[in-house]
Amino acid sequence: MRFDGKVKSQDELKALQLEGLRWTVNHAYNDSAHYRKKLDEKGVKPEDIKTLDDIRRLPFTTSKDLQEGYPFPLLSVPMEKVVRIHASSGTTGKRKVLCYTAKDVDDWADMFARCYEYAGCTLKDRVQVTVGYGVWTAGWGFQNGCERFGAMSIPIGPGNIEMQLQFLVDFQTTVIASTASMGLLMAEEIDKNGLRGKIALKKFIFGSERSSDAMRQRISDLSGVKLEELYDIPGLTELYGPGTGLDCRHHTGIHYWADYYILELLNPETLEPTKPGEVGEMVVTTLCKEAAPLIRYRTRDLTRLIEGECPCGSIMPRHDRILGRSDDMFIFRAVNIYPSHIDEILSKIKDVGSEYQIILYRKESSKDHMLIKVERAKRLPDDKEKDKHIRKEIEQTIKKQILVSCDVEVVGYGELPRSERKTKRVFDNRD
Ligand code: ZN
Repeated sequence: MRFDGKVKSQDELKALQLEGLRWTVNHAYNDSAHYRKKLDEKGVKPEDIKTLDDIRRLPFTTSKDLQEGYPFPLLSVPMEKVVRIHASSGTTGKRKVLCYTAKDVDDWADMFARCYEYAGCTLKDRVQVTVGYGVWTAGWGFQNGCERFGAMSIPIGPGNIEMQLQFLVDFQTTVIASTASMGLLMAEEIDKNGLRGKIALKKFIFGSERSSDAMRQRISDLSGVKLEELYDIPGLTELYGPGTGLDCRHHTGIHYWADYYILELLNPETLEPTKPGEVGEMVVTTLCKEAAPLIRYRTRDLTRLIEGECPCGSIMPRHDRILGRSDDMFIFRAVNIYPSHIDEILSKIKDVGSEYQIILYRKESSKDHMLIKVERAKRLPDDKEKDKHIRKEIEQTIKKQILVSCDVEVVGYGELPRSERKTKRVFDNRD
């Protein structure tokens, strides 16, 4: 494969990681006052990094460091080397702004090209990019990666459903790059407009939002794209953007590009490494990022590492799909709940659609209540008895697996709002 990198064995990968780690610490210490101060406070000098385990001696970097350094946080090169900035669409506090050198942009495109390669794309593919262009990373990531890979890109951005459908037919698009929500919307439109016989669509690549099993199944059923041709790309603005890993066609987890960054999984409370298979927070350290290197950056994203080898034979390690963000967690009757856990449970219930809402509220008795709204599966008639059965099954499963009581309301298919970007799932109306 053209973009699979230079390393061919675990030993070579480890050697490259150590070299990259030492380069990063040295670069950050010498070229960023911010990092130098933090490393000095920890009493670590670049020459102290002798093995990969020495990463644990390094201080953490958090979103607070990014906010405090606004507008150009963690900058470790002279301004004239910066060729681009991106910012997160973050709504709370200041946006996270990241600087890129020409080499950073180049490395990112190489990484993303590898994603297309792992998704089995060819030079003949036509990629309709329906994620946002602008100051955020999504559109640019898919775009530059596609050009580097060599497939044809159709940069359209979000919205414009009519134009999206027209392009699908006229340009015979083979790959849709989208959020999972937009994927569902497109699949519904393809189905509604009877386009399945007129299009050449073969793959969906989802960025910036996790897709649940139920959602993937729906998208596959409605669009006619095989379930195994739905891919997930994780991505963070802080770590270049989308394209730092992808689940290959075997879908046994997300291969992450360990020749560009080291991934640690830590217990978010104790900051100790998690045991194999245990869920932890992703903490990343870059190996060759110039403008804004990351040293043990706490992403808040939760996942678990997957042991063993993938049938595809790649030496790139794997993590599970992003299971949620530690920030998304809500506390309900003293239980820590991740929306992704509820998502997982609903995905396994028959006769419900993929869309749901979690509504938290407080009654006069000052006791917290949780209402979960789900949609009846498509083509299922409005049947009170059936709804009752669905309600009971969800309430009992949640009670059994999350140990809390909730109420469930079943609404008709298509009644919950669809979104072209990320869908809001949790509505906390307490207070
Ligand atoms: Zn694989």
